[in-house]
Amino acid sequence: MTNFVTHLECANCGDQYDPALVHGLCVKCRRPLWVRYDLERMRGSFSKAALHGRPPTLWRYLELLPVQDPAKIVSLTETVTPVVPVPRLGAALGARRLYVKDESRLPTGSFKARGMAMAVTKANEFGLRSLAVPTAGNAGGAMAAYAARAGLAAYVFMPQDTPAINVKECWLAGAKTFRVNGLINDCGRLVAEGKAAKQWFDLSTLKEPYRLEGKKTMGLELAEQFDWELPDVILYPTGGGTGLIGMWKAFAELGRLGWLKSDRRPRLISCQSEGCAPIARAYDQGLRFAPLFENAATMASGLRVPAAVGDFMILDAVRASGGCAVAVPESGIAPWMRKSISLEGLAICPETAVCFSALEMLLARGDIQPDERVVVFNTGAAQKYPETVHEEVPLLDLSQPIDWANI
Ligand SMILES: *Cc1c(COP(=O)(O)O)cnc(C)c1O
Ligand SMILES: [Zn+2]
Repeated sequence: MTNFVTHLECANCGDQYDPALVHGLCVKCRRPLWVRYDLERMRGSFSKAALHGRPPTLWRYLELLPVQDPAKIVSLTETVTPVVPVPRLGAALGARRLYVKDESRLPTGSFKARGMAMAVTKANEFGLRSLAVPTAGNAGGAMAAYAARAGLAAYVFMPQDTPAINVKECWLAGAKTFRVNGLINDCGRLVAEGKAAKQWFDLSTLKEPYRLEGKKTMGLELAEQFDWELPDVILYPTGGGTGLIGMWKAFAELGRLGWLKSDRRPRLISCQSEGCAPIARAYDQGLRFAPLFENAATMASGLRVPAAVGDFMILDAVRASGGCAVAVPESGIAPWMRKSISLEGLAICPETAVCFSALEMLLARGDIQPDERVVVFNTGAAQKYPETVHEEVPLLDLSQPIDWANI
C-alpha cells in the first residue's frame, strides 16, 4: 500500500517535522502537530468505491491514516460504531431527527480505543517498547489494553478519585498503574518528568500526533454513514478535545478529496459541565487559548480536563463550524443518563448526558432547529460508571411474606 503522509506540521506555528521520526509536541512552541497527507495524489488513486467490501472497522480508511506498515497494526477489532436513531428521546426534547453515534461498543468500552489503536500502532512501527499516559480514566484503560495486545510496557497515572473500574482495568491489563492525589494535568507533569529516564513514549492527549488520527475516524465513519451528506449539528462532550478536532480534520480532508456532496459542514457544539468548563468559558470570553479552570470537579470524569494543550484547535474548529461551546449544570447529568436508557434502552455515559442537557438548552434558545439532523456522541459505556447511579431498589426479605400489593 502507498502511504500518503507528507509531513507533520505544528498547529500553532506551522513548523514542519519528518514523519519518519518520533515526535511529540512542536519543539519551538510546545503545541500539537498535525499529520499532513498528499490529498491531491490521494484524490487520483483512492475513491469511495475502494471502500466497498472492506471490513467494517476503522482500518477501512487506511489511506487516510498514518500507517506505514500494515503488518504492524495493533488492533482489537475497532468496529464501525452504529448511528442509532432515538425518536423517543427526540420527542422528549423536541428534536425530530436525533441520532446517537454509539461509541460504547468499541474495545474497552469507550472511543479512546480509536486513538490508542492508532498511537500504539505507530509506537509498534517505531519499535518503541514502553508507553505512558496521564488519564481521567478511559484513555488509561484503552492504552493498557492495546499495549498488552502489542506486548509493550504500559505506565498509567490517574487522579486519586478516578472511577474504580478504570483503575482496575489498567491493573488487570498488566499496566503499572498509579493513583495521584492531584488532577490530570498533575499526572501529565509526572509523565513529562519521568519520560527521559524511563524512555517512555508519552501518549498524553495531543502530545503526540497519532491519537488524533485515530479519533478522526469518527468523522470519516459519520460521513460514510450519512452517505456523504454530513448532519447539521454534532454535540460532543469535550475534555482534551481530540475527537472534536479530529472530526473537523476528517471533514476537511474528505472535502479536499471531493467525497462530500456539499460544502456545508456540521455545526460543532463543544459540551462541558459547569464543574469543569475551560473551553466554554474561553468561548464566551472570545479567547483562543483557555486559561486553567480552577477547582475542576465533575462526575463526568472524561471532561475533567482543566487545561487542554489543544484548546485553540478546539475553539478554532467550533468557531469555523458556526457552532459554539456551552457549559451546563452538573445536576442534569444523572437525570439524562436515566432518561436515555429508560426511553430508548440506550445506556449513555455521564459525559454524553452533558450533551443532552446542552441540546435541551440550545433547542430552547433556538440555536438548534427541531427539524435539523442532530448527532450526539455516546463516547463511553455507562456500565463503566456505577458510582454515578444512586438507585432506589428495595430488598425482598425471604424470611417474610412478600407484600404482593407493593410489587
Ligand atoms: C476522554 C473522554 C471524553 C473527552 O474526549 P476528548 O476527545 O478528550 O475531548 C469524553 N467522554 C468520555 C467517555 C471520555 O473517556
Ligand atoms: Zn510550533
